[in-house]
Formats: sequence, C-alpha cells, structure tokens
Amino acid sequence: MVRELALVIRNSLNEIMSEVIIYLRQVYDFMELKTLDEETIFCSISTFSGGGIGDAGIEWGCKVPVISACELVPDRAGLIRHNYPDTHVFQGDIWQLKQDIIKHAQLKLKDKSPWLFVMSPPCQGMSSNGVGRIRASMAVGKRPKEDERNRLVLPGVEIVEQLKPSWFLLENVRRMENTIITNEKGELENILDMLGRRLHPLGYTIRSAIIDFRDLGVPHHRQRLITIGCRIPEIVKKLPPVAEIFCKIPSPLHPIRTHGVHGRFPHISMRESIGHMPVLDSLTKTVDDKDPYHQIPKWNQEHYFCMEHTPEGCTAFDNNTCISCGYAANLSKDVDCLECGERLPKPQINVEEWECPDCNFTLRKSRTACKCGFIRPNEMKVSRNRRVVRGFKTSYRRLKWDSPASTLTMNSGVISSDMKGHPEQNRVLSVREILLLSSLEAHPGVNYEWDKKYEFRSVNKDGKRFYNGDFTPKLVRQVIGESIPPLAMNRIVGRLMDLDSRIEGPTKTKGISTQKFLEEVFN
Ligand SMILES: [Zn+2]
Ligand SMILES: [Zn+2]
Repeated sequence: MVRELALVIRNSLNEIMSEVIIYLRQVYDFMELKTLDEETIFCSISTFSGGGIGDAGIEWGCKVPVISACELVPDRAGLIRHNYPDTHVFQGDIWQLKQDIIKHAQLKLKDKSPWLFVMSPPCQGMSSNGVGRIRASMAVGKRPKEDERNRLVLPGVEIVEQLKPSWFLLENVRRMENTIITNEKGELENILDMLGRRLHPLGYTIRSAIIDFRDLGVPHHRQRLITIGCRIPEIVKKLPPVAEIFCKIPSPLHPIRTHGVHGRFPHISMRESIGHMPVLDSLTKTVDDKDPYHQIPKWNQEHYFCMEHTPEGCTAFDNNTCISCGYAANLSKDVDCLECGERLPKPQINVEEWECPDCNFTLRKSRTACKCGFIRPNEMKVSRNRRVVRGFKTSYRRLKWDSPASTLTMNSGVISSDMKGHPEQNRVLSVREILLLSSLEAHPGVNYEWDKKYEFRSVNKDGKRFYNGDFTPKLVRQVIGESIPPLAMNRIVGRLMDLDSRIEGPTKTKGISTQKFLEEVFN
C-alpha cells in the first residue's frame, strides 16, 4: 500500500517536473535572445552547416545563439543535434526546406529580423574557361551544362529577402567570383551580380573578397571567397552599394589581417600547432596509448619505403638518390638505380606492357594497336614492368615544420593525395592533429572559447546514435575538410560585431583590437 502510494507520488512529481522544465525552457529561450533594436534579435541562422564546425566560432566564440541550422547529410545534421541542443536542425535539401527555415525564424523571433544569416553552399565555382564554354554554347543556341551545386545560393538569397538579417555572410570557394549560374528567371548571370541585383534594392551594401585563413591566425592555409552584406543604415551610408562587389583586397567589412603581415604576428606554423604531439609510426604505432584521436592509418611497405627516405618539405617523386650506393644522378623516370640496380624509393606501380616491333614504342596491355598501325597478335608476349606512378609532385609530399599546414581536405589521411605527409615522422597527420590545425581545438599558446566543447557524436532524429556513439576517423577528416575553421568564422563574425554600434562592451571581440582600424577607415 505504502509502496503503491510512493509510486503514484513519484510519477506525478516526475510529470510536474517535466512540465516545469518545459516552462523554464520557454522562459529561458525568450530571455536568452537579446533584442538589439525594435526590429532585430541578436541571433544567427546557419545553412549548409556541415557538422556545425564553423558555428562553434559563432555560438561559443562570439556568443551569438544559432537558432537554426540546415544540413543535407544525415550524420552531419546529427553532429549539430548533439553539439547544439538548442539549435533547431533542418535536415534535407534547402530548396525544399527554405520556407520552413523562414517560418521557424518568424515564429521564434516574433516577426523580427535575425542579426546574422550564414550560408556556406558547397558550390564548385568556375574557371574562366568554364565561363567561356557556357557563353560559347549559348552563342550556338544550346542550353549550357552547369553544375547544379552552383545554384544552391539561390534559396539562400530567398531567405535573406524574407528575413532581412542585419548582416549576411556567404562563404564560397575562390573562383566563385567569376561563376555564372542560371538565375531564378532562367537567365545566365554572374553570382555576385545576382546578389547585387536582388539585395541592393532591399538596402544592403555588399563586399566580396578572397581571404586566406592563415592570415587570421588559423594554422593552415585555406583561401575562400567571403562575401558580406549589411543593411545597417549608418554602415551603408559610409560604405554605399557598388556595382562591382568583388574587391581585390579585403574591404572594411572583412576581418583585419593579423598574421603574416609585417609588424604583426607571423603565420602559425606546424611546429607551434602540432610539434608537441607524441610520436607515431604508420607501421609500428598507429594509435597513441592515451589519446584514441591521435591515430593514423597503417601504410604498406611500399608507401613506408618511399616516405622514410623523403626529406621534410619534399616529395617521394624526387627520390633520385640510391639508398644502397648513393648514386645521385638517376632520372625522374627511373625506378631502379642506374648504377647498382637497387630499387629507388619512389611511388611505383607494376604495369603490363608490350613493345611494338615496328617502331619500338611501348604500349599498355589494354592497347591492341600501335599508332604506327601495327596490330598486336594474341600470342605476342606481354611483359610486366615497373613504372613511376603518374601523379602530381604535390602528392607523396611531406609538410614543413615552419610553415602553416596546407589546406585540410577530406583526404587528409591519404598520402597519395596533396601535401599529406608529416614533416618528419613516417605517417600522415593524425585525427587529433587535424583537429588542432583546424582550430576546432586550441594548441599550446592560444586560447579558444570553444576549445574541447565539440564532440564527434552524431545523433539521429529518433535519438539513436550513429556509429554506436564512437567517432570514426573518416567522419572527422571529412567534416573538418569541408568546414570553415571556427577561428576564421569567429574572426569574421567578430568583425561584424565590432562594426555594429548596437553591440557593446564584453561581447566585442577579444584579442586584436580593431577600434583603431575602424577609426581610420570610417572617420
Ligand atoms: Zn645504387
Ligand atoms: Zn608501332
């Protein structure tokens, strides 16, 4: 009897508690969002959010609440759900979700405007060559073939038109500035021209420039086209809309270069950011005993042999000196030493080839006819040879200790990809080192407000975890490779906060003061 009564009381208490929590949550939600003026709420909306890596620099770094995020890939959306429990996650195609994103914001912000809207569409950009092809096919009356990904900026622009944020930020590959897309009217138009045509009439002033994130203190090299729009009257007055949105040098709306310029900080080097990490080896020690993230893929003997003889900053393709006899004048096509016949430490493959008896030309087995006209008879002997792998001299290359890392890509674990070798150990960079170089984690000597807050735990809509809750090295490398570094995002958005006179005091960016610069530019 007593036991049953206790159970009833406990259940009702639980119910009451959960009601109270929901109520407090609503009150908190309301209080949490700060009003800047009659029409603006201090918050951000993110689209093409990836795993929310860039949002770390906004929400945790700049303390701007990200009220919603949109991401197509389920496990990336799951990372946002896990790391930002207060952010509403829209999972799917932005063309279908744009209205929901707008409605959610209107409801949550009580029809006021968000302070910031961020989009990082996975556009491919276009070489000037591609622009020429499009024009040429137009000239002969054909419909040009275009990469649909380049059009993903269009639904983003619609959201800006509807919500009218004080600021918007568009992050793209560099080449985006000369990219032509089919616009909403089915006409060809340069992307930046499209932004101006649609957003200038709404009061925006827009500037676009290429920023190398290592100039902002990020320990790796990454160039992106950063386009910033603002509709705050006092700023628009000082920096009016221009027809040519692309600027050759960063505009006053862009963050100030703090690194790699004379009189400021030098670029952050690999040595500073990962020099303290314990030794690993891709044959004998692929994971650290204490840190499961400090792990690397295993190499085969071939890769190991090539890379162990490759000096810092060099590529295995240049290993023309023989390990056995020291003979140094081997040619770049040689796979064995011309002097003693030993194998050279260069990337090699076995190929099946035959030699044309008429002209002595060497052909792959798959080719049955020589260009001289000779047809290979079936019974003719095919020999197995070794050849230097065809590849760019940026692959099988070691990085340099005293430079920033090269661009982190989704392939950061693959030595045959561009610039992936550790400066001196026989391995690629570990997952932990990628996190340090990405600026998601702080290396010794720096202090990020988002340090160690982010977890690679991805949660499905129904609450189930991807990968049983364990991180996968592949996921980390991919998500980092496709994301804007948190420090870069923090510096870019911090710049907007500095420029915005409605934001005061402790919320202003820390570190490099931009006040003096602002005075110089705006007064
Ligand atoms: Zn030799
Ligand atoms: Zn021939």
